[in-house]
Amino acid sequence: MMATTHALAGMALAGVTALVAPEYTPIAVSAAGAGGVFPDLDLYGEHRQTLHYPVYYSVGAVAALAVALLAPAVGTVALAAFLGSAALHSVMDAFGGGLELKPWLATSERAVYDHYRERWIRPRRWIRYDGAPEDAALAGALALPTLALSTGRLQTAVYVLLAVSVVYTLVRKPMVHVTERLVDTLPPTVIDRLPARFTEDFTG
Ligand SMILES: [Zn+2]
Repeated sequence: MMATTHALAGMALAGVTALVAPEYTPIAVSAAGAGGVFPDLDLYGEHRQTLHYPVYYSVGAVAALAVALLAPAVGTVALAAFLGSAALHSVMDAFGGGLELKPWLATSERAVYDHYRERWIRPRRWIRYDGAPEDAALAGALALPTLALSTGRLQTAVYVLLAVSVVYTLVRKPMVHVTERLVDTLPPTVIDRLPARFTEDFTG
């Protein structure tokens, strides 16, 4: 799933605060937006491994939630929302596609790394790949509760996330074809210096 879908999912979850402590909803939703994007910052490292912790983020989120309930404050609520959203992201990745450069071909058995069990979780492909039409539809649906709850800059941020989702969905497949052509034109010495993950699918 797209990083934006993850952000919107976490924000929708954080919207639950509106039922119990609405004064904390803006901070919870903002922190959840950041926490939803955060794991994908490992895109150029060991993607879906370095910053993805389906088990540990979840444990941390439960602990942080307990602290936030006992001592509600901007800091504790923000931490609980951030961790909760990062946990949701890491778990949700198991329901998307694999790690391959063309995930619509469904050739990879790696969705997200489980550090606790020291193994890769296989992709369920309910959302076939990041940037699939159903991914954009999910992002749209997840945006609705936050749009209803928020105003001002937070609402603008949701519209920006939606716009990025739509553009990404439109360019997702063409982007790979362009990269493919680009890699074809590169001299072998340059290709050798690129991380294998970016070139192996293209160069065979
Ligand atoms: Zn991810």
